[in-house]
Amino acid sequence: MDSRFYSRVCPGLIINIQRSNGQIHEAKVKTVRVDGASVSVEWTEGGTIKGKEIDIKDVITINPELSELPAADLKENFPFQENKQKRRSTLSKIPAPREVAAATPNVSTPEQRTPAARGRSRMSVIAESQCSLQENEMGVDPCTSTQTRNNSSVPAGRTRTSKLNCVPEASVTNLNGNTEDHLLPGRISSVSPVRRRSNIVKEMEKMKNKREEKRAQISEIRTKRAQEFDSSCPNWEFAKMIKEFRATLDCQPISITDPMEEHRICVCVRKRPLNKQELQKKECDVITVPSKCVLLVHEPKQKVDLTKYLDTQAFRFDFSFDESSSNEMVYRFTARPLVETIFEGGKATCFAYGQTGSGKTHTMGGDFSGRTQNASKGIYAFASQDVFLLLNQPRYRSQELEVYVTFFEIYNGKVFDLLNKKTKLRVLEDGKQQVQVVGLQERQVSCAEDVIRMIEMGTACRTSGQTFANASSSRSHACFQILLRRRGKLLGKFSLVDLAGNERGADTSSADRQTRMEGAEINKSLLALKECIRALGQNKSHTPFRESKLTQVLRDSFIGTNSRTCMIAMISPGMSSCEYTLNTLRYADRVKELSAHNGGGETQNQMETESEEMEGLSPQYNLCKDEEEELSPHMFSFREAMTQISEREEKVVEQLKELKQRLETELDYLLGITEQPDYDLETFVSTAKYFVEESSRNLLSVGETLDALGAAMQLEEQASKQMRRKRP
Ligand code: ADP
Ligand code: MG
Repeated sequence: MDSRFYSRVCPGLIINIQRSNGQIHEAKVKTVRVDGASVSVEWTEGGTIKGKEIDIKDVITINPELSELPAADLKENFPFQENKQKRRSTLSKIPAPREVAAATPNVSTPEQRTPAARGRSRMSVIAESQCSLQENEMGVDPCTSTQTRNNSSVPAGRTRTSKLNCVPEASVTNLNGNTEDHLLPGRISSVSPVRRRSNIVKEMEKMKNKREEKRAQISEIRTKRAQEFDSSCPNWEFAKMIKEFRATLDCQPISITDPMEEHRICVCVRKRPLNKQELQKKECDVITVPSKCVLLVHEPKQKVDLTKYLDTQAFRFDFSFDESSSNEMVYRFTARPLVETIFEGGKATCFAYGQTGSGKTHTMGGDFSGRTQNASKGIYAFASQDVFLLLNQPRYRSQELEVYVTFFEIYNGKVFDLLNKKTKLRVLEDGKQQVQVVGLQERQVSCAEDVIRMIEMGTACRTSGQTFANASSSRSHACFQILLRRRGKLLGKFSLVDLAGNERGADTSSADRQTRMEGAEINKSLLALKECIRALGQNKSHTPFRESKLTQVLRDSFIGTNSRTCMIAMISPGMSSCEYTLNTLRYADRVKELSAHNGGGETQNQMETESEEMEGLSPQYNLCKDEEEELSPHMFSFREAMTQISEREEKVVEQLKELKQRLETELDYLLGITEQPDYDLETFVSTAKYFVEESSRNLLSVGETLDALGAAMQLEEQASKQMRRKRP
């Protein structure tokens, strides 16, 4: 036992102690055992005073400074606080995952860009912060913490230097304060007691001054921090952690000068800026786009002991666009490379996928200024402009090509023509699986301005009669198509789809049937779409297009060697959207994960096994992990009932239409007989009787279909109740 050490440990001294989980915290020495073997300490936790006995050896291990300081100074205790702060910062697990920080400069290397690598690149990094009130009281500067973190985990010199610059000068000097000169234990033993006392008085004076200086600094830091992080914002601690995290990154967002790339399937992500309402609510932006392919989601989390931390997940896509990217920029890397496909006789599709309010319509239809949309600044218009640019090039000018556009909406499995007053259209499939939207208006256009007029007309039709544009448009898919014809014959087709909000798929648990049916239809179509794109990526002969009206209508775009597609996953940056954002990113990740032409390697094999295991199920049930609940028996019956409902509903409508036509014709005929001056009454009676019998049979048949529809509706009701019981 070091007696010098022991003589310094006295009641009232603040020392560091360690919990069983390794966490270090402060405690006050209450008593020291007479034999010096242990001390009892006390500390306050959650408003209550706690205490324990600690072996003196443990105290030495955790507080090595004690052996370097004169006993007389110990009660004053201030130098310790500085030292302790320094060490605590070192020990605290504050963010800066090496993987993410290190991954950022590397993300654009070609080998990492392969989807297989992308599949594996989803990293989960725990970033913790000790933003407790106690630490604030201690005035630990966030920059100091980050500096320590950088020193320990970020090898890159640049990041480290920049963080060092961030440490307030005062902190640096304090950490190496001149107290050392006076506190060498060796000196103390060589001076007389009187000198020592006067030295002590001087020392105490100095310390008092320092204490005041320190207090001033703390209050300055607090004021600065309060300005930077509005403490009225409920999530300012997360905002602070994210800011610190971003400061460690060397962000290199996509630039308009980056080369365009050719992908058969291109999956991108776009983050929109926080909007006015979100800014007013002081929403915290949890998305970071460090490079042209990577996007990070900082998911806020809390431990059981209420420590807040960030779970940062990285996703890799073909391109990722941050909030500063314009529609032109997004277009250049997504739909632009597909325009040429339709001149080569191919089919192209571009989908905007995401939660309602994430920017799908803004990207596809054009940006908004207030409530009016600028139709010339969206992907529909940019693609049309480029079609006309190409059309006027010498190589195509002589080919007698004509351009047509169509614009329709798919709502609840039904197709409505947006260029013809929302007329309901029928989708028919012939024996050769050719799908036709009967009566869909194709409008010929001869310049980009014509197209913009059509977009405006269709958009107005889509949102007409709605108080809020999103109320119905969020539940429907809007499809704008550019058709290229040569002497009437279809050469190529570009379909640009503004999909229904993916969160609407969760409406299957609603108490209202209409909402449930819409939700189920959206869910079904989005799952089917994913499967169709995956089938295209793997050159599979079977495309599960029949699963939804959306995929049925786009069937010809998912087959053939000259079909290309692009999906833009739109995300809202706010913390409150985090869960949906993660769902959107996982979906987008799955769209391309299995892409065979990109060589899936290990990941691909593993996934194919998974697919084979599910082969017995309908393709819509070939789901990713998050969608496992879709496989529950209740969900299965629910979907089955939904399919029956839509089939029977369609049948009853067809029967009624047919009956109406028949009745009209036959009644006209019958009544026509009676108009004749010398008609044969016997013939009239027998014809009329036959007509009544036939009509009764037809009506009975309609009645049977209605009964079957009713039964399916009951089945759906039961299944949905059981699902709700399971998922409150
Ligand atoms: P969605 O179609 O996905 O429901 P919208 O396109 O209607 O979403 O966008 C919701 C709101 O956010 C609109 O007011 C739109 O102007 C705005 N917005 C979306 N994306 C952006 C962006 N990239 N930049 C600025 N505002 C955007
Ligand atoms: Mg929309």
